[in-house]
Amino acid sequence: MRRILVTGGAGFIGANFVHYWLLRYPEDKLVVLDKLTYAGCASSLDSVTENERYAFQKGCIGDRSLVQSLLLKHEIDTVVNFAAESHVDRSITGPDEFIETNVSATHRLLNACRDVWIEQGKKTESHRFHHISTDEVYGSLGPTDPAFTENTQYRPNSPYSASKASSDHLVRAYHHTYGLNTTTSNCSNNYGPYQFPEKLIPLCITNLLLGKKLPIYGDGKNIRDWLFVEDHCRAVDLVVRKGVAGEVYNVGGNCESTNLLLVETICNEFDRFYQDEPELFESYPENWMAKSTASDAIDFVVDRPGHDRRYAVNASKISVELGFEPLIGLEEGI
Ligand code: NAD
Repeated sequence: MRRILVTGGAGFIGANFVHYWLLRYPEDKLVVLDKLTYAGCASSLDSVTENERYAFQKGCIGDRSLVQSLLLKHEIDTVVNFAAESHVDRSITGPDEFIETNVSATHRLLNACRDVWIEQGKKTESHRFHHISTDEVYGSLGPTDPAFTENTQYRPNSPYSASKASSDHLVRAYHHTYGLNTTTSNCSNNYGPYQFPEKLIPLCITNLLLGKKLPIYGDGKNIRDWLFVEDHCRAVDLVVRKGVAGEVYNVGGNCESTNLLLVETICNEFDRFYQDEPELFESYPENWMAKSTASDAIDFVVDRPGHDRRYAVNASKISVELGFEPLIGLEEGI
């Protein structure tokens, strides 16, 4: 039986992970620690609040004494760290919060785990600190460059990716220096339920329902590798249970798409839904499809500064060593 502290569990991927884990592992206990920033949504966890294997604690991962007391009180043996500032655009207009949360607070979280698990000698052998990171730490690829492997040099380009790169290095250092049993996964772009509507896919969906335009940066040809969030949860599951301490695993969806193609896919789905089910027009009276086809909402806007052109993930290590394959393709996921 595992006792897991899920940090950032009220965020997009964290909430999906909580639902995933409680369903699959009926013996395990989960404690969510979340600061409930603008991106945290307590109601994403409404359906599990009555579950006696689940507890919620509002608070910051950088509050060392709070983290220590949670580790001891709940006899936590596993931390899965989703907590972060996660939106690139916000990191460009306000980088300070990204350095505070993704670097300093993450370091205090590591330090609290080290203190309880190593210094105080609790759970010395069986503990695990799993850190959730991003493919963006590797920088940007040209159209024909090979995909990022775990050995690709870090070249972060935004304050967001630089702050995540810093936390990855701290996790690595805590393994090498203090013997903390860490693993890290660097994942491509996720999408799915509970995502905050500042991110591209839920933003498009919300805007179409509200009759607003769909802003696309630059020429729309920036390429991302898309992964359905439940596939990401399965990958984290494999790394937590079977991954080797000190190792890093890339996670991707084998699903490269330009932003423009992705948005066109969403538009096509909307047009189809609204043709098949005309009663949908009543649910959102301002919806874009009432005045035109969805793709007419596409609006090219000034590019993001320093916008990375292409990310692509080589996920053969997690496939060969842990047996992970993404199961849900982009059209099905959308
Ligand atoms: P999110 O922004 O939706 O959620 C982040 C959560 O962390 C929120 O609930 C927020 O309240 C909480 N939080 C923020 N600061 C905190 C603090 N100091 N203490 C406690 N809680 C805090 O993020 P997400 O999209 O779910 O991403 C989760 C993790 O996955 C992040 O580390 C992100 O870098 C990484 N990641 C995300 C993607 C993606 O496509 N969304 C891809 C790769 C990696």
